[in-house]
Amino acid sequence: MADPTGFLKVPRIETAKRAVDERVGDWREVYERQDPHQRSHEVSQQARRCMDCGIPFCHSGSAGCPLGNLIPEWNDLVRRGRWAAASDRLHATNNFPEFTGRLCPAPCEAACVLSIAEEQTGGSVTIKRIEQTIADQAWSDGIVEPQPAALATGKRVAVVGSGPAGLAAAQQLTRAGHDVTVYERDDRIGGLMRYGIPEYKLEKRTLDQRLTQMRAEGTRFVTETEVGVDLPIEQLRAQYDAVVLAVGALRARDHDVEGRDLKGVHLAMEHLVPANRECEGDGPSPISAKGKHVVIIGGGDTGADCLGTAHRQGALSVTQLDYNPEPPEVRDDTRTPWPTWPLVLRTRLSPAHAEGGERRYEVAVQRFVGDDRGRLRALEIAEVKVERDAEGRRVITPVGEPMQIPCELALLAIGFEGVEHIPVLDGLGLTLNRRGAVSCGSDWQTDAPGVFVCGDAHRGASLIVWAIAEGRSAAHAVDAYLMGESDLPAPVVPGALPLAVV
Ligand SMILES: Cc1cc2nc3c(=O)[nH]c(=O)nc-3n(C[C@H](O)[C@H](O)[C@H](O)COP(=O)(O)OP(=O)(O)OC[C@H]3O[C@@H](n4cnc5c(N)ncnc54)[C@H](O)[C@@H]3O)c2cc1C
Ligand code: SF4
Repeated sequence: MADPTGFLKVPRIETAKRAVDERVGDWREVYERQDPHQRSHEVSQQARRCMDCGIPFCHSGSAGCPLGNLIPEWNDLVRRGRWAAASDRLHATNNFPEFTGRLCPAPCEAACVLSIAEEQTGGSVTIKRIEQTIADQAWSDGIVEPQPAALATGKRVAVVGSGPAGLAAAQQLTRAGHDVTVYERDDRIGGLMRYGIPEYKLEKRTLDQRLTQMRAEGTRFVTETEVGVDLPIEQLRAQYDAVVLAVGALRARDHDVEGRDLKGVHLAMEHLVPANRECEGDGPSPISAKGKHVVIIGGGDTGADCLGTAHRQGALSVTQLDYNPEPPEVRDDTRTPWPTWPLVLRTRLSPAHAEGGERRYEVAVQRFVGDDRGRLRALEIAEVKVERDAEGRRVITPVGEPMQIPCELALLAIGFEGVEHIPVLDGLGLTLNRRGAVSCGSDWQTDAPGVFVCGDAHRGASLIVWAIAEGRSAAHAVDAYLMGESDLPAPVVPGALPLAVV
């Protein structure tokens, strides 16, 4: 039985990060590599803080973990030093805990009962740290082994897209005995985890070790093949009994203001992809921040990834612009009460923001200013007021005098508009809904029979944890479609949304 007062005896301790000067000089993960024994001891102590709540909000689908991770159960196992059993319980609900343990913003921690009165409790259980440690320890102990299916069903499934949604669906379906091939148009597997998320957040060897396990289980991977172009739809339909579309929502939002076509103005992904390629050994990035004043337009997580990347490339200065007001340092109970996701200033939580750079709020770009050779030399910005019109649309009005800031590299990190207009959609006779996503019925099946959808392609730009949850649920639906019934878990339904105050 858990210690109900453990949190009063043990303070919350997060994973130590490497010193800023050291970590911005390389691409390795920002966290310190701890001695394994010390790490196990420290994390067991952290797990002692869990009260094993009667109603564990941390693992409820809407407020806490969409995967339904059995958090109190593995917290208790870790507290008792039963690491292998904890790994079993963790893998029971999550195919890739080493990804979420590193990358998830942890809605489970925001929903943890201990985060209700942080000043008195010391804050939530360090669930994410415990999750990562269980996963890393399991890998280093050699207990994460391939789990090939006992029986082959003889059914063939194509998964289109190799991000976390496609990978989760593929692993579940392979383990259920189907013959699964993942198609990826890029030259490497992983979707945004490979070429969007920077190396310092996820060293790609972590991804590669999981892919080795998947290959050993029998999942096949085909790269540099765009379904609908390199593999025609007729062939796809003839070769496979079912198709899972996990093509992401990679259509980036652009900002069509004066000077957009100047040299030096780029979409965030045009900066992040080659930086990741450089880490893979593909040669220097053509869009480096080295020796430049960099301005990132957009105050969100993609912008934070550009910030960390620009610092590591040796930027002269980095400024991040946001038209929203500065968020509060702590949860505003009137707007985002527990257990909803709190909108707070992420300096403490986001390692990139702790590494420097200036953040400016309630400002927006008015125009990009070039030199006589068509190269960006400055940004004209103005203070703005953001309001909603009668239809709820955002209206941004300049309220101050425009001012110029020096800039040779501007990065647009202002979100994604949905699925790209890719030939596979036309080929399957699918159209995008008004959110720019692919719709499906309650069984994840699209309007094209036998074609299922999951991840960002269905949900719109979201999170890895949701992509895995949807991939697992779509796998259940495909299995049931092929076999008449399925024992695979289905943690979320297509309409599932995080709990929010409306
Ligand atoms: C810069 C950045 C940083 C992020 N950081 C985080 C983070 O720290 N934590 C977090 O939880 N989430 C993060 N996210 C969000 C997260 O990465 C996504 O929600 C998640 O990757 C979505 O997974 P997916 O499998 O649906 O799609 P994706 O990961 O986008 O993968 C889709 C794949 O499909 C491929 N594809 C498309 N069409 C075809 C075709 N016709 N044939 C073959 N292949 C095709 C694409 O090339 C791509 O590889 C981040 C997103 C971005 C952009
Ligand atoms: S809500 Fe927090 S304290 Fe309660 S069971 Fe979950 S992790 Fe433990």
